[in-house]
Amino acid sequence: MNDALLKQYKKLGIDEDVVEFGEKILKELEPRFKRIDEIAEYNHLRVMEAFIRNKVDTECFNVTTGYGYDDYGRDTLEKVYADLFHGEDALVRPQITCGTHALALALFSNLRPGDELLSPVGKPYDTLESVIGIRDAVGSLKEYGISYSQVDLLPDGGFDFEGIKKAINEKTKLVTIQRSKGYATRPTLSVERIGELISFIRSVKKDVIVMVDNCYGEFVEEIEPLDVGANMMVGSLIKNLGGGLAPIGGYIVGDKKCIENAAYRLTSPGLGKEVGASLSVIKSFYQGLFFAPNVVASALKGAIFAANIYEKLGFSVHPNATEDRFDIIQAITFNDPKGLIAFCEGIQAGAPVDSYVKPEPSDMPGYESKVIMAAGAFNQGSSIELSADGPLREPYTAFFQGGITYQHAKQGILMSLQKMKEKGLVKL
Ligand SMILES: *Cc1c(COP(=O)(O)O)cnc(C)c1O
Repeated sequence: MNDALLKQYKKLGIDEDVVEFGEKILKELEPRFKRIDEIAEYNHLRVMEAFIRNKVDTECFNVTTGYGYDDYGRDTLEKVYADLFHGEDALVRPQITCGTHALALALFSNLRPGDELLSPVGKPYDTLESVIGIRDAVGSLKEYGISYSQVDLLPDGGFDFEGIKKAINEKTKLVTIQRSKGYATRPTLSVERIGELISFIRSVKKDVIVMVDNCYGEFVEEIEPLDVGANMMVGSLIKNLGGGLAPIGGYIVGDKKCIENAAYRLTSPGLGKEVGASLSVIKSFYQGLFFAPNVVASALKGAIFAANIYEKLGFSVHPNATEDRFDIIQAITFNDPKGLIAFCEGIQAGAPVDSYVKPEPSDMPGYESKVIMAAGAFNQGSSIELSADGPLREPYTAFFQGGITYQHAKQGILMSLQKMKEKGLVKL
């Protein structure tokens, strides 16, 4: 590394041995980074194809207010999403407040009292426990008479086909498949594996609706869940597809009927997709999607960099240093609250916003245990920006993700290592 660069790292409080430790690891990662760039290029071309085919123009960026009748920017963006992800229709709205809301919307609108929801991939993401009613909550699916069944993955991470076959019954209406691991240490599912699971489920019950929780998975691969038979894919715009620019929002892409149901639930029966002004955020939705393939590539490189650093230092990391990636999340297990906290402090100290703030474990709505979160983000809670969080419970795992630019992902991870070193938790 050249002297000017090293000097600049030192000015930020990162020691030479920390930087050099990182450099050695990066050297070995060059071929993998090249493959990530290739996927980003491929997905960029797909985005461009959808923008060009749907004639995105400056009129799409007009600010709309009130009911939002004939909101041209909103309607065109939904065409772009449907086209890009090979769905019949899409709902992409600032009125969808977050990923949990998008998932709840897809579930509540496509299930009716007496129906059953099945998760064949184990316990879903923490916040969905309240949505489903696994944990008692006001307004849950359970309160509306919608039952839930779950089949866990096998100990080796495989699908329990026999268990899934037994769990599917005449009430089973919708199957939810979570692509990313969330706050678990199970493997993330590749789109190909999701496809195998969907084929199996359809061989047992043909007309079941399959929804994929696509949070953190978008643009990591060259195919997406609708390409392998899902009826809906659902996610958040303050994760991958917002490209760091969307300040709010969620999306559902998929079958016309599913989207129609979701639209009538989001707004009102009779109104559906016709209302919902895109306000002044619509341009950021377009521009964020335009940036997203490159942003996801930066985040992926950061995740792989972190995995290689912390594995080398003896921590257990999921995915491990050499595994293929199917989402942008990196889990690092510290087996010690001090490690988890020091890591998060480093990410926070290296952030562009609120760098002077010390993150503290606290209660979070929707989460069962205390959670520590490091996120010096431009948009509150935006986890496509470099961020780390982890529930304060055994085995003290930090879930780390994001980095809108590769440079920031790298510097933030080096800062986490610096904090670990200062607290005597690692020896370089
Ligand atoms: C983030 C996430 C959610 C919830 O999204 P929020 O925007 O935090 O509400 C759901 N499922 C998975 C797998 C996620 O990663």
